[in-house]
Amino acid sequence: MEKPAVKQRKTTAGNPTERLKKYIASAGAGVAFLLLCAFSPGMQAEALTPPAQETKTVTVTEKIPFETTYIDLPNTYRGYTELVSEGVMGERQVEAQVIYEGDKMVRVVSIKTTETGQPVNQVIRRGTKLLRTQTVDGSVWKTSFANPLKTKGWLSADFYDYHAHNGIDLAAPYGTPVYAAAGGTVELSGWYGEYGRCVIIGHADGSKTLYGHNSKLNVSVGQTVKQGEKIAEVGSTGNSTGNHLHFEIRVGGTFLDPLVYMDK
Ligand SMILES: [Zn+2]
Repeated sequence: MEKPAVKQRKTTAGNPTERLKKYIASAGAGVAFLLLCAFSPGMQAEALTPPAQETKTVTVTEKIPFETTYIDLPNTYRGYTELVSEGVMGERQVEAQVIYEGDKMVRVVSIKTTETGQPVNQVIRRGTKLLRTQTVDGSVWKTSFANPLKTKGWLSADFYDYHAHNGIDLAAPYGTPVYAAAGGTVELSGWYGEYGRCVIIGHADGSKTLYGHNSKLNVSVGQTVKQGEKIAEVGSTGNSTGNHLHFEIRVGGTFLDPLVYMDK
């Protein structure tokens, strides 16, 4: 059986849809959602005889997001972060008086918001010291590393994705060239446990970059490499489930978030 076409109201004056839209615009997200759900287009058909009106109280609980407070550590490298205390979401109750005609919401009479729980900020300690490293010609000091895949990979795992990840994963097809993120001396080129076929480059400032899970290595220990020089090819050797480059930046015993230092 075919449904009869729903007849829409032509005027906006006195149209409950338009009036509700105004209320929705001024109400909180939770109320807006509730009103939109209740007021689906199918309910806008003109009633032949208006049913009895009834006022109901509609209550919605909304979350209030928390903010982050940072404690800066000037003697610790940028990229280091430590959670001091976790944030807690706040809560507010939104209470609206709504007039119904049967199941249909026609008008919001009033909206009252009460904060029932204050949000608690999360606190994070973070390093602010900048790492400096030498570029190709050896004369200019800069504060970032080049992308070791020259933007051909895509981030498949972040520094913070799992505990003790110590670096980032850049997924890329097998054989994609891996380039030195900064100039330096090759300190390791060979099998390195879970890292599989791995390259470690030592840089002039004492930092090191590590390139793991390669299929092929193109450099040998003691060799000097320039920034952007090909050092390996992407693979899935060692503890790896797919072709990707695992990239680390280390200073002393600290692992830094490469995304902080890589050229954008
Ligand atoms: Zn990884």
